[in-house]
Amino acid sequence: MSNLDLHPAPALCGGRHDVTARPVRELLPAKDVRLGESTMVRRLLPNLGRRMVGAWAFVDHYGPDDIADEPGMQVPPHPHMGLQTVSWLHAGEVLHRDSLGSLQTVRPGELGLMTAGRAISHSEESPREHAPLLHGAQLWVALPDAHRHTAPMWEHHAELPRVTGGGGIRATVLMGELDGALSPATAFTPIVGADVTLPAGCDGRLPVRPDFEYAALTMSGEAEVDGVRLAPGSMLYLGCGRSELPLRADVDSAFMLLGGEPFEERIVMWWNFVGRSHEDIAQARSDWMTGSHFGTVHGYEGARLPAPELPPVALKPRGRAR
Ligand code: MN
Repeated sequence: MSNLDLHPAPALCGGRHDVTARPVRELLPAKDVRLGESTMVRRLLPNLGRRMVGAWAFVDHYGPDDIADEPGMQVPPHPHMGLQTVSWLHAGEVLHRDSLGSLQTVRPGELGLMTAGRAISHSEESPREHAPLLHGAQLWVALPDAHRHTAPMWEHHAELPRVTGGGGIRATVLMGELDGALSPATAFTPIVGADVTLPAGCDGRLPVRPDFEYAALTMSGEAEVDGVRLAPGSMLYLGCGRSELPLRADVDSAFMLLGGEPFEERIVMWWNFVGRSHEDIAQARSDWMTGSHFGTVHGYEGARLPAPELPPVALKPRGRAR
């Protein structure tokens, strides 16, 4: 998915100095953002209160939306640089096309992972024949400096490892490692992304790492994470310093656990790009607008997305200021 904001605010983030070493419970409010003609999303990262969780730098939650009589998701070809996009669905399907020639329908329980590296472009759409409901999350992972110029790559993982815990906790590991279960997806930093389901009446604990910071994004139901009850579409930042996470639920619930080693590097995130300087971003924007480097997406019916104007002042990486 794309950031379709016509006036995207530059997000300047990275660095360890305001990462809490101790456990916290910080509720991050969602911002409603319109994505294209028909999709509304709730943006949880970047947030006024927090820019990153580990290398996770962008979190959108959408649906469940009834798209039975609508086109559904229609995101025209657009570029990415310096990040990975993670597509994860609870209902419906998304057809992915990219400039490498990939053509893949991503369905619930399957991971669509696009490593943009130095440059890629893609489109995402609901297929013409689609399920009535669309519900999912779109997440971005910032690439560390050593790998941000890597060759672009598309991965589709239909088989992902599962973890079970006390109280009926079940987790699917999308990215990284959780309780000894390692995702086959390519990761470039110590990270975890997992989809956790809790049955009604669940009361258990999930083992986590004290050196990782974590956040929980509720997908459905009302998971109670470390004593905090979360309505769908809200995210709870948990900080570091836990070896286990207490989980409860009165009704069937699902949430995404996002975490990782605090990302030390300062980054500049603007529109669909992650760089390290204003020049990186300005060059990427110019390359997209002149048709260089980002390739061509074939088969999408419609024009590609133009980049918004750069802000009038230079983008400077300056840490994870609130
Ligand atoms: Mn995208």
